[in-house]
Amino acid sequence: MTPTPPVLRERRLTRAQRVLSRKAKGSANRAKARRRVAVLHRKVREARLDHAHKTALRLVRDNQAVYAEDLAVSSMARTRLAKSVHDAGWSQLLRLVEEKAEQYGRTFHLIGRFVPTSQACSGCGVKDGPKPLSVRTWTCVACGIRHDRDVNAARNILAAGRAERLNACGGGVRPGQAPAAAGETGTRRSAA
Ligand SMILES: [Zn+2]
Repeated sequence: MTPTPPVLRERRLTRAQRVLSRKAKGSANRAKARRRVAVLHRKVREARLDHAHKTALRLVRDNQAVYAEDLAVSSMARTRLAKSVHDAGWSQLLRLVEEKAEQYGRTFHLIGRFVPTSQACSGCGVKDGPKPLSVRTWTCVACGIRHDRDVNAARNILAAGRAERLNACGGGVRPGQAPAAAGETGTRRSAA
């Protein structure tokens, strides 16, 4: 049996909630509708958690180090990741990544909130100023590189994460941990 697609599951829940709102207060039908909403709610929640576990596991397995912003909304709110960011819960995903990174002996690091990941050019470092989320690509006025908003932000996060980690370790590497190899980022075979 193939699993129910998330869209369908959420649509069912929405419909059940609408049905519930139309049932007369105190009626047997209302009680039944409420039970159905509760069941569908639980299914949606479980499916999201399951998806978060799988995503976290894939990220940790495919990469030697994972760096992230603790707030994702800045760079990802409008992308195809939007659903996982808002619905499944970014912080939940990060918690799972952290947990699994520990299990697998990988590096996990949250970068500082002050890093302007979507404003600076990852090529030359010039701060180009804030851009509305509708701007998906832009060209650096200083060096002329054309950026995809999210890829550029990801590069900045990676650079900031490495720099912060090196600082935290006093320029060295924590004992028992492999040094940051050239292929540290690995390949994102299927980024969500
Ligand atoms: Zn530039």
